[in-house]
Amino acid sequence: MRKKIVAGNWKMNNTLEEGIVLAGQINDLVEKTELNGVDVVIGTPFIHLTEVNKLVGDKIGVAAQNCADEVSGAYTGEVSAAMIKSTGSKYVILGHSERREYYGETSEKLVKKVALSLQNGLTPIFCFGEVLEERQSEKHFDVVKSQIAEGLFHLSPEDFGKIVLAYEPVWAIGTGVTASSAQAQEMHAFIRKTLVAKYGQEVADNTSILYGGSCKPSNAKELFENADVDGGLIGGASLNAEDFMGIITAF
Ligand code: PGA
Repeated sequence: MRKKIVAGNWKMNNTLEEGIVLAGQINDLVEKTELNGVDVVIGTPFIHLTEVNKLVGDKIGVAAQNCADEVSGAYTGEVSAAMIKSTGSKYVILGHSERREYYGETSEKLVKKVALSLQNGLTPIFCFGEVLEERQSEKHFDVVKSQIAEGLFHLSPEDFGKIVLAYEPVWAIGTGVTASSAQAQEMHAFIRKTLVAKYGQEVADNTSILYGGSCKPSNAKELFENADVDGGLIGGASLNAEDFMGIITAF
């Protein structure tokens, strides 16, 4: 059956020193807590990956927040999937709305990033979600379906089975406005139905679909209680060890 996952996304926060302190605090709390089968992930900036991987125990997986869409070579400033893997990291967050919006991340580029991540044994946490206007004009289901289809539906069932999905309505990210529990479940059920149609019931049942967008200790339980919500991708609240733990233990 599918995994329950709570993944932190630090975004562009924390110097190396600050990141080491935060990762240490999270690790200490995780080590002494019964996790009820929840996989914990922390997504750090590239420069933290090596140190954070050395510091955390087996109960925490480390994620990069992006990777290059090329293998190697003359791509100044880029970091490849192989380099990420070499730090000991297991995951890579791909297609976050901030990357789609500010850094021109297209589905075409994401197809290449997904392929390189899988080739290097990294688990992509593939993000997608509608903007407010799309929800208001009731296009959110279509938008989500096409983002998933364009980025992932060329994959074989076997490769698709290695992907973690993260539904993040853009209007809920960093705004303090969370999708209601019912809105989250409605979309997650729609996504699973879309996966059943493409890959069949077994693959759909085994795919973890995380919710992201202003998830905090106070609303995590209600969100995670939904049958099709398999965890969260946490921005702001992952920058504080206690808040992050409050979300992990909401399961
Ligand atoms: P937030 O961010 O929890 O701060 O809303 C979520 C995300 O962007 O992954």
